[in-house]
Amino acid sequence: MSLSVLNSSPGVVVRAAIIGAGPTGLYLSIVLARRGHSVVLIDRDPGPPAGVPVTGWARKGVMQFHHPHGFRQQVLESMREDMPEVWDALYRAGAEAVMRPDGADIVVGFNCRRSMFEKVLREAAVAEPGVEFVLAHADEVVTAAGRAAGVRAGSLLVPAGLVIDASGRAGQLGRGLRAPAENHDCGLAYVSRQYELLPGAEDGPVNSPVGMVLTCEGYLAIVFKQDNRTFSVLVARSAGDRALARMRHPEVFEAGLRAIPALAAWTDPARSRPVTPALPGGRLYNRYQGQFAEDGSVPIPGLIFAGDAVCTTNPTAGRGVSTSLLQARELARLIGEHPGDPESATGEFAAWCDAWIKPWFADHVYWDDDLARRWAGGEIDLTRPLPSDLVVAATEADPSLFRVVGPYLQMKALPGTLAAVQPQVRDLYASGWRPTPADAPSRDELAALLAAHGTAHDTAHDGDGHFVDSPA
Ligand SMILES: Cc1cc2nc3c(=O)[nH]c(=O)nc-3n(C[C@H](O)[C@H](O)[C@H](O)COP(=O)(O)OP(=O)(O)OC[C@H]3O[C@@H](n4cnc5c(N)ncnc54)[C@H](O)[C@@H]3O)c2cc1C
Repeated sequence: MSLSVLNSSPGVVVRAAIIGAGPTGLYLSIVLARRGHSVVLIDRDPGPPAGVPVTGWARKGVMQFHHPHGFRQQVLESMREDMPEVWDALYRAGAEAVMRPDGADIVVGFNCRRSMFEKVLREAAVAEPGVEFVLAHADEVVTAAGRAAGVRAGSLLVPAGLVIDASGRAGQLGRGLRAPAENHDCGLAYVSRQYELLPGAEDGPVNSPVGMVLTCEGYLAIVFKQDNRTFSVLVARSAGDRALARMRHPEVFEAGLRAIPALAAWTDPARSRPVTPALPGGRLYNRYQGQFAEDGSVPIPGLIFAGDAVCTTNPTAGRGVSTSLLQARELARLIGEHPGDPESATGEFAAWCDAWIKPWFADHVYWDDDLARRWAGGEIDLTRPLPSDLVVAATEADPSLFRVVGPYLQMKALPGTLAAVQPQVRDLYASGWRPTPADAPSRDELAALLAAHGTAHDTAHDGDGHFVDSPA
């Protein structure tokens, strides 16, 4: 096969090729370019179509793209420090900073659609001198003398001394090169839908920085406030729960929401209107895959993995973009610290991810298994450490726990710090105390109610970002 070579003109040195223009790749490209690197960003997605709302950006291959995202303090702080004008642009595009609920003048995150966040970040990367976009599917990392020498994308060769795989949770390219991932099924599935407040209508009820969070008996229901008077409603259920899975049908979804008072208030046709179909989600998992091959070596010197390609966690805690941008920042720092020595950067980055990112993965593995057991009817197990969700829930009865739980909730302290309050929390549950259930039907009540709603067809998307009509 004959390959055409990108930027092969004399004097132009392509130093970093990034595979994947999701949050990780976009962010890294801007930061690396600002540190003097020239960057080629390779993605198969053409970007947002001109002249249509962001809901019209199909974003094939990124299943979660139109599902709700909560954006944490870490994302906001990173942008403010590294690229304040991009935060300003996001703010002008409608993102709303969220303050701490106790009235303290502290920002805890921002409300925005993932699609709007990515559109603005992408526009910044496109405008960044030193960042070049290539619209292509990356097929392989090319090596020369045993080191990464670039990326082949079809018949195009992108030469680069450093290759960063930021191909996300669905990226396949670098999987087989590394020791197998630790893979754990969350046991959960999403259905969500986006809405827009009608002119003059006010927000519905809120109880959390993201909007309204309801921990129900056997499922989760959340309203995420977003930019430009839009919001998303999410129902997360057991992956095997076929009765609640029927909420992928819009009429069944709406029937379910009408039975949950807080969600009914938000989605009352006098307050808001849906702007997407009900969106089913694909399989959710916790996944961690480090940098090294099974024998402990760097598989290809000069190839480094980052973002969801390293760590994916249960999205209900909204940590993924934070762990991705934290990685991007640390990786950029290490690349700067080890000029011309990407192997050292890889080793230090691997150790940093094991210390600072992997604990979030382990936290969810433990929590998710226990939640699945409880959703299946199991009691709280006091014979072993309580999972994080139960420790957090205990703050309802004992607000003094916030001193330890607060920093964990903000991802300012690792999950291991919750160990300090385990005895206190165990005593609380042992006394018979239980969290106050949300004002919502139980899973069994909701399932019975949904069973009464027949449906003619699915108006949904195909799990790959495309909105389609299909027979039920
Ligand atoms: C249902 C769901 C809900 C979520 N909710 C939240 C939330 O509330 N808050 C939060 O912080 N996080 C959330 N997350 C996590 C968040 O979406 C991810 O952490 C984030 O997308 C990771 O960004 P990334 O750039 O690493 O990967 P991705 O966003 O997956 O981007 C990868 C990019 O690589 C491209 N690509 C892949 N392979 C190739 C190839 N061979 N050639 C060219 N291009 C390629 C893809 O097209 C894509 O553009 C959620 C995740 C899911 C699944």
